[in-house]
Amino acid sequence: MLPIRIVAIPTEVAEAVRATLRAPVYGFPAHAEVATNAAPCRHCLRTFVVGKDRRILFTYNRFTGVEPLPQPGPVYVHADACPRYAEDASFPEELRGSQRTVEAYALGRRLLAQEYVTDGKFEPVIEKLFAGSNADYLQINSTTAGCFTFRIERASAQ
Ligand SMILES: [Zn+2]
Repeated sequence: MLPIRIVAIPTEVAEAVRATLRAPVYGFPAHAEVATNAAPCRHCLRTFVVGKDRRILFTYNRFTGVEPLPQPGPVYVHADACPRYAEDASFPEELRGSQRTVEAYALGRRLLAQEYVTDGKFEPVIEKLFAGSNADYLQINSTTAGCFTFRIERASAQ
């Protein structure tokens, strides 16, 4: 397996949303609620406990930090502080049970390939997309909801 980095949204973004209840950059109102489904927090990459965890829905540019052209969409974070997912950890175990789309991009937001993973076996797909293309990074999205989940970069890139 190639060395990879799991890139969740920055802690500063999660903290800004919690403090202001507004989307960073856009300023759109954010929405706080008790979780009604087991979607993942984009900061700790753990799934919400339905009926218990409080979460905030806000607008986020899924190309933050890698591309000048934005593509905003809805994402959740825990309403209370949570630890950011470690970049050197492996694929988030709590996300294996849900359908995710893995998109391979070259800088310039050029989509090179995409794979729909339904069986939780992400590593072979990640390996194939990085090895078989000039991909600079991968975007992981929810296949069923379409929302951005997190980014994967080559660990050797930095
Ligand atoms: Zn969280």
